[in-house]
Amino acid sequence: MEPIIGIDLGTTNSVVATVVDGVPTVIAGRSGYELLPSVVAYARTGRYLVGELAKRQAVTNAEQTVTASKRLIGRKWSSAQVQQARAKATYRIVEGPHDDVRVELGGRTMALPEIAAMILTELKLDAEAWFGQPVVKSVITVPAHFNDAQRTATLDAGKISGLDVLRIINEPTAAALAYGFGRKVDKKVVVFDLGGGTFDVSLLNIGSGVFDVVATGGDTFLGGDDFDERLIDLLADPFERAEGLVLRADPMARQRLKDAAEKAKIALSDAQESEVNLPFIATTPGGPLHLQRVLRRAEFEEKTRDLVDRCARLCQDVMRDAFRSARDLDEVVLVGGMTRMPAIQAACRRVFDREPSKGVHPQEAVALGAAIQAHALAKEADSGAGVLLLDVTPHSLGVCIAGGLVQVLIPKNTTVPTSASHLFTTIKDNQKAAKIMVMQGESPQAQGNELLGELILDNLPKALRGEVEIDVLFEISSDGIVGVSAKDLKTGQRQSIQVTATSGLTDEEVRQMMEQNADYLLARKTEEQFASVQQDAGKLANELEQLLPKVKSAVEGSQSGEEAVSRAAKLLERTRAAEAARDTAMMLAAKESLDQTLQLLRGIAQKLGRR
Ligand code: ADP
Ligand code: MG
Repeated sequence: MEPIIGIDLGTTNSVVATVVDGVPTVIAGRSGYELLPSVVAYARTGRYLVGELAKRQAVTNAEQTVTASKRLIGRKWSSAQVQQARAKATYRIVEGPHDDVRVELGGRTMALPEIAAMILTELKLDAEAWFGQPVVKSVITVPAHFNDAQRTATLDAGKISGLDVLRIINEPTAAALAYGFGRKVDKKVVVFDLGGGTFDVSLLNIGSGVFDVVATGGDTFLGGDDFDERLIDLLADPFERAEGLVLRADPMARQRLKDAAEKAKIALSDAQESEVNLPFIATTPGGPLHLQRVLRRAEFEEKTRDLVDRCARLCQDVMRDAFRSARDLDEVVLVGGMTRMPAIQAACRRVFDREPSKGVHPQEAVALGAAIQAHALAKEADSGAGVLLLDVTPHSLGVCIAGGLVQVLIPKNTTVPTSASHLFTTIKDNQKAAKIMVMQGESPQAQGNELLGELILDNLPKALRGEVEIDVLFEISSDGIVGVSAKDLKTGQRQSIQVTATSGLTDEEVRQMMEQNADYLLARKTEEQFASVQQDAGKLANELEQLLPKVKSAVEGSQSGEEAVSRAAKLLERTRAAEAARDTAMMLAAKESLDQTLQLLRGIAQKLGRR
């Protein structure tokens, strides 16, 4: 069977998994870690870095290091969240051509799906190294609360990276799959997923291989980063006041504060206190300044109480939407790194009135669930076997009607795939065209919702007003993505329809980005090939360098011996030249010669030793 993978494309960490002999398994990356930090950087060496290496250089290269990009994907430039993220980011976030968001990295202005594609490419390479063959087929997860634009942007990222994305599934649902897979469970389960950037809570019925989501809720702008931000305030506010300077204006200081805050937050999950020490955090005419402070768990909890309360309220909303109370539930499953915070666990205990289960690995469950779904889809194509996922749409879908109000066509928590139609009639004689605004959200006012796109019905037939009747069909796929089609009811003909996405990429843009990513992938592979040959050749060159002086003095007077030594010295020069040119073919040739020369010289050295 062709390899197939599940990917958890997280705000903080990404994970890739697969199913081996029926067992869901996380694929360790080439760097040896299970979690790939979702960080992309343009290093001073002129190369792009992704993951651990990118994260490690973030402090010294903060302006060229993109973190938490998932918080921006599929959002409009004009949204409050983007402006909030922009004020806090160490890298440059700029306006794109379609009210979308771009970031500046390595002298390029990149769209968010391109950044996500670089992370996906890294995971693809990890999987290929693991399988020892090309990997294309995949399932990618998104927060359950992601809207159509965010899901479409994630699909675009998949396309750009060269993956064939069979399905987009919701993160809490994936975690539930990992929880219930291969076990006999018949339970009502809540999945509480708080990661670095997003919060999701879903209520499911699990039984005989069917995973039926009843209701879901959340906030795509609520996560560990917000907790870190509060700790940064605790550290920086008094310091800035006392010293009369703005610490956070300097990207390097900001990144150091962020790292220290996250470390302290994690430490405070186990300890009551944690000391933060940031020497030389700023320089003033009076000399360097150091920041030192002991943070207490109690003050951290106090400072983040509203964030925890927001999670709790969203849980209550979901129980209300599902017509359930805490008593009806069987199990609460915690997912996401932030659920290790004691105050979060306490909130879960309070809201759900029970001890949360730790039955799944909080940072691996989502990828494992994605792998299970991927495997099931592949098997379905073969034999029809698999698990059944019944997910819901997290937002209501509607159209804007008179008075700026919304008419809901598909209410939230409707099982997907689903569809609904809307009958449109002309309001003027001989009306040629009409515009329909498609909205997603819960506000009765159009303004309070996300504008998904504008549908233009054109080439309408000539007729008196009210006589033209166009049936517009809205569909939501299993991926949670909205599709639209229209039909003239009189003629039964399909009506031409134009959808102008309001913040998505055009097909042409996606095509160009795919090409660029293919170039990047090639460069990346060449680089890795070079690095591995260089490593081998380097070892041989070192050995030769050490052996050479000994052999040299011993062969003095022997013509063939002296020639061998001089050839070896030239070979070392060639190796250095190949290194400088970063030329893989030259390095490979040098490596082979080094191997032979070493054998020859070792032979000479041995003979001399025996004499
Ligand atoms: P995402 O799904 O957003 O990529 P993860 O599930 O990997 O995120 O969780 C990352 C978040 O969890 C980060 O904000 C990180 O600081 C936080 N985190 C990890 N371990 C702990 C811990 N022991 N205590 C508190 N927070 C933690
Ligand atoms: Mg996550």
